[in-house]
Amino acid sequence: MIRMECEICGKPISDHPKRVKIDGSIMAVCDECSRFGRIQKEPPKPKFRKQNNKNQKRQQPRREEPQEELMEDYNEIIRKKREAKNWSREQLGQKINEKVSVIHRIESKKMVPDTKLIQKLEKALNIELLEKYNTDDLSQYIGSSGSGVKLGSIVKIKRK
Ligand SMILES: [Zn+2]
Repeated sequence: MIRMECEICGKPISDHPKRVKIDGSIMAVCDECSRFGRIQKEPPKPKFRKQNNKNQKRQQPRREEPQEELMEDYNEIIRKKREAKNWSREQLGQKINEKVSVIHRIESKKMVPDTKLIQKLEKALNIELLEKYNTDDLSQYIGSSGSGVKLGSIVKIKRK
């Protein structure tokens, strides 16, 4: 039996490794790291060969990875916007149909709002709380770094 190790983070791959294309080279990586590249189908279908065509529809990742992340300072954004509108926590709670304690916990970062709650807050306060991250940009960055050390630190950052 062949034991595989992820070519990015070095973790042993128990299952089948994912084959992804990162900056032109195909690497066998674990699930975690497969998000850094384009997953290669076996065998690759010709219509996915054009990597440089920007007008091409972006290939959807197979796993349900979030393409959006809650902003780091979501609590500040919510609090500032709420205060700008002159709403108390109670008022905001009423508008989105949540308890005051929920608002309080979100604003003090003791609670991370779920997707539904994020949407309600975004709508009520007219804000954006999700940060889109572009996997294409990330893979370019990985490609230009050319060192395993940086790859490791990116993996860490994305895992937080
Ligand atoms: Zn890995």
